[in-house]
Amino acid sequence: MLEPEPFRIKVVEPLSRLSKEERKEKIRSAGYNVFKLDAEDVFIDMLTDSGMSAMSDRQWGKMFTTEQSYAGSSSYRLLEKAVSDIFGFDRFVTVHQGRAAENILFSTTVKEGDFVPNNMHFDTTYANVKHKGGTPVNLVVDEAYDSGSPGDFKGNMDISKLKEFLEEKDNVPVIMLTITNNTAGGQPVSMKNIREVSRLAREHDIPLFLDACRFAENAFFIKTKEKGYADKSIKEIVKEMFSYADGFTFSAKKDGLTNIGGILGVRNEELHKKCIELGIIIEGFPTYGGMACRELAAMAQGIRESTDIQYLDYRHQQIKYLGDLLHEAGIPIARPVGGHAVFIDADKFLPDVPQVEFPAQSLTAELYMEGGIRGVELGTSAFGEMDEEGNVIPAPLEFLRLAIPRRVYTINHLNFVAQCVASLYEKRENIKGLKRTYAPKLLGHFMAEFEPL
Ligand SMILES: *Cc1c(COP(=O)(O)O)cnc(C)c1O
Repeated sequence: MLEPEPFRIKVVEPLSRLSKEERKEKIRSAGYNVFKLDAEDVFIDMLTDSGMSAMSDRQWGKMFTTEQSYAGSSSYRLLEKAVSDIFGFDRFVTVHQGRAAENILFSTTVKEGDFVPNNMHFDTTYANVKHKGGTPVNLVVDEAYDSGSPGDFKGNMDISKLKEFLEEKDNVPVIMLTITNNTAGGQPVSMKNIREVSRLAREHDIPLFLDACRFAENAFFIKTKEKGYADKSIKEIVKEMFSYADGFTFSAKKDGLTNIGGILGVRNEELHKKCIELGIIIEGFPTYGGMACRELAAMAQGIRESTDIQYLDYRHQQIKYLGDLLHEAGIPIARPVGGHAVFIDADKFLPDVPQVEFPAQSLTAELYMEGGIRGVELGTSAFGEMDEEGNVIPAPLEFLRLAIPRRVYTINHLNFVAQCVASLYEKRENIKGLKRTYAPKLLGHFMAEFEPL
């Protein structure tokens, strides 16, 4: 049986649904790229889970009652207490979002020619390492690349790959571990894996930083899947996860249940000082960190709420529910589902559309036309390359991702999404590919334009 939502609705945001004819016109004038749609023309927005959370009455209340001040605001004290209670860290830097934490961390640790291993770098982490002259390296377990392989912790770092790597290279200033592994579909990392990575890091005297955007979702997977953790509370599990780390980067737009905000946690006093100094230059004084003080209050409350087991149970149930509906309808998805989204395998969904004709992009546009639902292409448009003659080189995976924002949509919304995907699946033989007519070189998928073939 489905557990009911552990909240009731106090404020509603009306949605309107355009007609199918109107949607066809909107997506055509957006060049078949959902990034170019106006949000008000979208009925159900599953573009991302980032910064899309519905905040609680307690978060809004704390935002309203905190004072606004340049230095020493009470919201900073609230955050300090939450970071210590939840993560067990006494030193941190407040930043406006995750990538700012990455910028500060890599600016103070990485120099030209260094390597930064990770299970899998998220795109901003990758770009920030590159930007400082470093080389980002992915050392995830092989199962991560196989959307059909079973496995409880497909987000793990491959320990033997990391061991070998650290024996070979002596210019590794920091090791990252991304929990959950976003790029691998929100797949979790086990406590055993975190412990082993930490042990290796310590042997080599290299600090381990968690990319901890989805720390609570990861803790939920540890509680429900890893031996020995069923009777531990989420708070105990989170404390243990962070006890193995020398620091962490965090985007509160995910498990902070806020619309903006981030944290860079640092145990080492010296490094912390450097990070604070740089933070003041690029983000602001530490007690506001590039935000209005009310955002810190929302974040302090949000990281507490995200460790609530009833909330996490409901959250995971939603993802699994949508995944199961699609799977039962015969639709090819990555399984088991990860922590924040369902990934539809567009290559298997549209086997007759070759990757150079952007099957996942086409499916994303079709789903918008079908039901006003906005997912995101994570395939050849986002990750494919181009050769010298401008020919498209396909990406290794071809996904349409349906991200589920936290506490925003109901089971009925998800039923509707599943119905629309199923109806596309029935008429899949009529779905054609797309021709790309425009794509800038860097992060081209945001601005790309297409035409139907
Ligand atoms: C979102 C995300 C980031 C970057 O955070 P922003 O707040 O978007 O800057 C970094 N790493 C992972 C794993 C993420 O999911």
